[in-house]
Amino acid sequence: MTETTQNNPRQVLALKYRPRRFEDLVGQDTISTTLSLALDTNRLSHAYLFSGLRGSGKTSTARIMAKALVCEQAPTSKPCEVCDGCKSANSYRHLDIIEMDAASNRGIDDIKELIEHTKYKPTSAKYKVFIIDEVHMLTTQAFNALLKTLEEPPSFVKFILATTDPLKLPATILSRTQHFRFKRISDKDIVHHLSHILNVENIEFETAALEMLTRSGQGSLRDTLTLLDQAIIYSKSIVTTSTVTDMLGMIDPAFMENIFDTILAKNDIRDIIESLESYEVGQVIDEFSIFLKQKMLKNDPKYHLHIYDRFFRIFADAKQLLSLNSDSGFVLILMLSKMVEAVNLKTIEEVIEQVINIPLDEPKGSTVDVLEKPSIEQPQVKQEVLKSSVQTQVQTQSQTQTANIEQPMVTQKMVSQPTVEVQTVSDDIVKFKKVIENIYNKSYELGNCFENSFEFESYANNILHINSTASGECKQMLYKNFKYLRDFIDEVFGDNTDIEFNKIVKEPKKELARTIQPTITYEQSAALKEQQQDGNSVGSMIEDIEMGDMTQSSSCVGSLCDSSNPSLAQVELDINDVLNSKMTNTAIELFQPRNPPRIKNKI
Ligand SMILES: [Zn+2]
Repeated sequence: MTETTQNNPRQVLALKYRPRRFEDLVGQDTISTTLSLALDTNRLSHAYLFSGLRGSGKTSTARIMAKALVCEQAPTSKPCEVCDGCKSANSYRHLDIIEMDAASNRGIDDIKELIEHTKYKPTSAKYKVFIIDEVHMLTTQAFNALLKTLEEPPSFVKFILATTDPLKLPATILSRTQHFRFKRISDKDIVHHLSHILNVENIEFETAALEMLTRSGQGSLRDTLTLLDQAIIYSKSIVTTSTVTDMLGMIDPAFMENIFDTILAKNDIRDIIESLESYEVGQVIDEFSIFLKQKMLKNDPKYHLHIYDRFFRIFADAKQLLSLNSDSGFVLILMLSKMVEAVNLKTIEEVIEQVINIPLDEPKGSTVDVLEKPSIEQPQVKQEVLKSSVQTQVQTQSQTQTANIEQPMVTQKMVSQPTVEVQTVSDDIVKFKKVIENIYNKSYELGNCFENSFEFESYANNILHINSTASGECKQMLYKNFKYLRDFIDEVFGDNTDIEFNKIVKEPKKELARTIQPTITYEQSAALKEQQQDGNSVGSMIEDIEMGDMTQSSSCVGSLCDSSNPSLAQVELDINDVLNSKMTNTAIELFQPRNPPRIKNKI
């Protein structure tokens, strides 16, 4: 190594300090130990697979391994470094070490040529070593061609495959190799290695600067060494934090502290936005994340757990926006503003405590209070995080209180009375909406007809009053499915709910608009049906429901009369007048029991 250093002083650090021995490998102790043992005990596999991040030492390890196999003392974990084999291996000229880059030689012909090579004995060494880098790039045919040789190569042949993406390899290849996974080299190991190199090179440095370089290298020793090369040139012999921040376009650590202090203090962020405009926003987000991660690891008391959580979510959102090619300046402003807002937010526990502390025994006479009551639960969910709105809530309540106190007692009573009714009515409306929803769930069309034709009027004494504007096809559909509609209503309102329809006619010009008979119950229509069977020519709705046959002339339950056929409807209305009593109904039932199922579903 020293020899090379002197001969080739301008060589880049990554090459100059490429490990030559197993013990030189950085951060891959387990792998180097295992391979050393295998070499020393001569328990060698015929094929190895090295996988891991780029710059984690795969190719270096493969070359050390190859050297260990071509040294005169092979196999040995400590190549002598003096024999011809070692020397030519170190200068990458050994004839028995064949390196192939599968990224550029990925076809079947390349592999066939390589297989041809395996047939000849090594020229000088004991073994012939084939190193295939980026092996995942090979074509499927090339992999297939390689399989046989890989499984049973001649005894003197060793394969070392290296890849950054082992998942792309066919299972057949994986099963024929000993797999070594190279882990990401820890930042600590890299910093240590860099400081070692700088000491050897006699270059001064600040450790913080090396840490920044290491972070930028993201676990790749080769990338980090390339950056270090750059930093040495840029900083003119002393590698300092400021030169590295300038060089990498990173945010100065002091400025970073300042940014977060400003955000935590909820101060004006306009200056920060201006200063950060010259940086790439994606990088700013990355650096913010790294900064916070360090704070988290150091347990900085300035930051609470929920702050980290919120900030990291904001960063994720910002990154997503950037990925959509959003305007980066806008993303930056939005991100910083959200961060300030996130500091304002209270934890759920804090808000719950605040809500609990709101006095509940205030007089609540005003209509506003009561009307708002059902919705109060909802906003509070949002308030859990919004301190300001909680305060507003408290204020509103106290204002209401003051207003009430000023008012005379009589007014309060008067106002508070109808609220009970409002409450019940709204409950029933909710139930009615539930019915609509259930019908929608069964059939969209039916739900749509129901919603558009029927309007909730009132519900009292087990009778549901519905205003109906049904007409045309909608009406027919409602007729046909009346049985189901009943079930849906019973389900929500209770089993014995009567339904009364009040017809609301859309076109007042027609005769029928003055509907004389406003309501008719289901039983009454059943009675009507019986009556009709007695010779009346008017069709019955119930009949139609049962038969599943609907005609224009047939008519209605109460107000569901067809407005296009006024004369028939008119007749029916008259009948309804006559039949509009439960007693008649019962009488008809008793005397004409031949169609009992028609009303059984009601009772
Ligand atoms: Zn040797």
